Amino acid sequence: MTASDDKFYHARVTRRVDFAPDLWMFRIQSGEHFNFLPGQYATLGVEEGGKRVERPYSIASSPAEDEVEFFFELVPEGALTPKLYKLQPGDELLMRKAPKGRFTLETANGRTNHLLVSTVTGVAPFVSFIRTLSKDWKEGRFDGAHKLFLLNGASRPWEFGYKDELTRFAEELPFLKYIPTVSRPWDHADWPGEIGRADDILRKYADQWGLDATNTHAYLCGHPDMIANSKAILKRRGFLDKIAIKEEIYWIPAK
Ligand SMILES: Cc1cc2nc3c(=O)[nH]c(=O)nc-3n(C[C@H](O)[C@H](O)[C@H](O)COP(=O)(O)OP(=O)(O)OC[C@H]3O[C@@H](n4cnc5c(N)ncnc54)[C@H](O)[C@@H]3O)c2cc1C
Repeated sequence: MTASDDKFYHARVTRRVDFAPDLWMFRIQSGEHFNFLPGQYATLGVEEGGKRVERPYSIASSPAEDEVEFFFELVPEGALTPKLYKLQPGDELLMRKAPKGRFTLETANGRTNHLLVSTVTGVAPFVSFIRTLSKDWKEGRFDGAHKLFLLNGASRPWEFGYKDELTRFAEELPFLKYIPTVSRPWDHADWPGEIGRADDILRKYADQWGLDATNTHAYLCGHPDMIANSKAILKRRGFLDKIAIKEEIYWIPAK
């Protein structure tokens, strides 16, 4: 079952940053330009002993970058992440040439606010949205008419990965608000920010920012419980039609 060149890039890791013992990012070079839309995912794989293991991963980079970036969480008993975790710059992995997914920004139908809710690695597609819009704004292709409101939940402060970059973007981009929130603050007395899970603070910020079903699309990404809770809250606020809420559920909890 060798990966054929017409379907797979034999990509190389060019850079790796470890944020925590079980959270890291890497950037890869695929050798060709990889065309995708911000918010889509790539299928990554590792082949060992003639066996290939593949999983989907949201792309954190913007299509304008010459490398493709991912944010991973190690699942210690998982089939693929322990293999990805071993990879260092220079090592090879497989990436399917076809990007996938519809978790893209909806800009066509009149709602100009975009409420982005994520847990830990679920921030990746939103990083891609923001990097892309930031470049478009600076280069005059985006007028700032669409506004992004990002809630990013984690248990502990070191799990955010992209907090510094997103904080800088929020300081310079008039169309971005960014709230990282920590759900286990008792271990981190020095955490200066918001407290609670992303879905716990959703109502408060939706009210504060004036986000309702007439003017807002919601995008939920990451932990299945956050997505279920946020969907229930948003439905009670009138987010009822199919495109009002988009979701990217990263895993199905084991029964
Ligand atoms: C569209 C899409 C995009 C995704 N993007 C990302 C991403 O950007 N970064 C990322 O790290 N993951 C992402 N995932 C999850 C990823 O595809 C894998 O499921 C995950 O990395 C685990 O793979 P594994 O082979 O190591 O574990 P598996 O062998 O697939 O899973 C073992 C067990 O762990 C559970 N599990 C899987 N992931 C987690 C988790 N994070 N926490 C707790 N339990 C888990 C599974 O339900 C299963 O019971 C995405 C999933 C989807 C569907």
